[in-house]
Amino acid sequence: MANRGHKPVRTCIGCRQEGLKPELVRLVRSAGGVLVVDPTGRAPGRGAYLHRQDSCIEAARKRRLEIASV
Ligand SMILES: [Zn+2]
Repeated sequence: MANRGHKPVRTCIGCRQEGLKPELVRLVRSAGGVLVVDPTGRAPGRGAYLHRQDSCIEAARKRRLEIASV
C-alpha cells in the first residue's frame, strides 16, 4: 500500500477521473440548481469538482449539469 503524501483528491464530474485538488475547479450549486464556479473554493454549499478542460466541461454538460461561467 502506497499512501504517501496524502494529497487531496477529488473526482471530476466531467470525466469521472480523480484529480488533485489544485488541478480542479470547484463548483457550487446555486439556488437555481446551476453549478457556478467558486474561484475561492470556500463558498458555502455542496461542492463539485471539474477539470479546467473543455472536454470535461462538455462531458459534464452532456450529463445535463448546468454550468455557468466556466
Ligand atoms: Zn475531468
